[in-house]
Amino acid sequence: MLCEETRQSLSSYIDDCVTLPTRVAVDEHLDRCPVCRAEFAELRSLTRNLGLISRPLPPSDLVATINDALIIEAAARRQQPDPSFMNRVVRFLEPRLMPYTIGSFASVLLFTMMFAALRPHFVALREASMQNTVIIVDTGFDLNQPVSPEAFAASRAPFAAQSPSLNPGGALAALTRAYASPRPSNRDSDDMIVVADVFSNGSASLADVVQAPRNRRMLDEFESALRQDAAFVPASMDRRPDTMRVVFAVQKVDVDDRNY
Ligand SMILES: [Zn+2]
Repeated sequence: MLCEETRQSLSSYIDDCVTLPTRVAVDEHLDRCPVCRAEFAELRSLTRNLGLISRPLPPSDLVATINDALIIEAAARRQQPDPSFMNRVVRFLEPRLMPYTIGSFASVLLFTMMFAALRPHFVALREASMQNTVIIVDTGFDLNQPVSPEAFAASRAPFAAQSPSLNPGGALAALTRAYASPRPSNRDSDDMIVVADVFSNGSASLADVVQAPRNRRMLDEFESALRQDAAFVPASMDRRPDTMRVVFAVQKVDVDDRNY
C-alpha cells in the first residue's frame, strides 16, 4: 500500500471502520513507513483529546422556552382575522397569473408601438382609397337624367385641370353633338381648328383660327354658340386656372345612313 492510500484510510482505521484486508495492509505500511506512523500517532491523539471534551448540556429551560414561543405564535395566528375567500383566491392566483399579465401587457405595448409606426402608411393608403372612391361615386350617372355639369366635370377630373370640360347643357355641346350625329341631308363633311380663350365662369371667346373650315358657315355657327351661353363648366368645377387658352378641333363628319 502506498502512503497516499494509507493516509486516506487512517481516519477510518482509527474508528475501526475498515475491512480486514485494508487493516492488514495499513498495519504493514505503518510498520515500514515512519512518516505515516507519525501522522497516525498525531491523528490518534487528536481523536482521543476530542473524545475527552465533555458534551455541552442544553439550558435547563430550553423546552419551556420553545413551548412558550409556540404558544405565543399560535395565539397571534388566532388573533389574525380569517382571510376572505376572495383574498385566498387572489393569493393563490397572483404568483400563477403574474407572468401572463406581464406577457399580455408587453404584447399590447408592442402592438401599440407597431401601429403607431405604421399609422402614417395607413393614413396615406386611406387617403388614396378615398380619392379613388370620390371619383367613382361622382361618375355614377343616372341614365334617366341629363348629364349635369358637375358630374361631367368630375368624370374628367384627372384631365380637367389641363383642358376645360364642355358644359353638357351649353350651345357648343349641342353643336358638336349635331356635327357628330349622322344626318343624310348634310353631305358636306368639314373640319376646323380654332384657338379659344376660356374664362373663369366657363364662357369662351374665339382667339384665333388655325385651320379655317371650307364652309364659312361652320365658323359662324361656332362663334354664335360661344356667344349664346357658357360653353364650358366654371373653373372651380374643373379646378383649372381661371383663364386658359385651348385649341379646339371641330370635325363635321359625314355618315351615310345607308350603311346603317
Ligand atoms: Zn507511508
